[in-house]
Amino acid sequence: MLDYHIHLFSHDDMAFDDQVTLSGVAQLCSVAKKRNLTEIAVTEHLFRFKEAKHFFLRAAEEAGDREAADFMHDYYNFHATLTLEHYVRILTEAKRRGLPVVLGLEMDCLPGQMDQVNSFLSTFPFDVVLGSVHFIKGHMFDVLDSYLQVSRWNTRGAEKVFSDYLVNLEELILSGTSDVLAHIDLVKITGRKPSDAAFNDFESELVNFVAKSIEKTVTEDGTGESSAGPLQVVELSSAGWRKPVGEPYPSHFVLEKLFDAGVGITFASDAHEPMGIGYRFTDLRRLADRVGYKNVSRFSGRNSFSFEIDKGQT
Ligand SMILES: [Zn+2]
Ligand SMILES: [Zn+2]
Repeated sequence: MLDYHIHLFSHDDMAFDDQVTLSGVAQLCSVAKKRNLTEIAVTEHLFRFKEAKHFFLRAAEEAGDREAADFMHDYYNFHATLTLEHYVRILTEAKRRGLPVVLGLEMDCLPGQMDQVNSFLSTFPFDVVLGSVHFIKGHMFDVLDSYLQVSRWNTRGAEKVFSDYLVNLEELILSGTSDVLAHIDLVKITGRKPSDAAFNDFESELVNFVAKSIEKTVTEDGTGESSAGPLQVVELSSAGWRKPVGEPYPSHFVLEKLFDAGVGITFASDAHEPMGIGYRFTDLRRLADRVGYKNVSRFSGRNSFSFEIDKGQT
């Protein structure tokens, strides 16, 4: 199996270039090997990089109110300390030396800026770009240790947070900027949900967005073969088991519908420290089996390749 969503730093830590090293990447590969993983994707957050800071500061300016804007501004100023060129150089060298790693990135949906983000990313030799929605109009809904962000859940209400999440998710998918959609139903992270009817509609919409993207590819190139462009792969992530919601992303229901729609999967721990690599992959594997998945996607140069999930491995 593969773990296609791994970070180099914990959210609480400020990161520096001299901590992004070949030996650090080798250590991640060594942990992965012990867990029977044959390849990993290092997918650091785009907001960690100085070269991309302006995208996030612009998003902060468009937050709904001053308090939210200030929070985002401080958050991205704190985190944007790495040099993307250095990160790319180290991961490229790790690959050249034969380490089982690919060069990835976790990108945020930046409403109204996706064309510029796409052009920016195309200047780097990424193997795989994950697309995520982490904030909605300045509400960083997955930051659970901030009174401000948690109180936003109360003032906005779960129904509004979930429906706004879908708006950003649709923009992300339609932009064609990412190869894999990360934690597709992340907005359930707190365990708070809208009414049953609204939640069912939410899950159906998630699937519709991805299915429509696939139909578009088939129509445009006439083959349906995977290539860089519209999203066709969604990650199956164990990270939700570490959060209040206590279940993987996506839910069993959504995963079944994605399978029926022909959507591929990757396996993802979203580890922010080495010991989190491959977290609960036996359970993820069981879930994929139950739904019917026999294949997993891997990426090189932003092209996807499907191959059989290793038998007998966790
Ligand atoms: Zn994420
Ligand atoms: Zn992540």
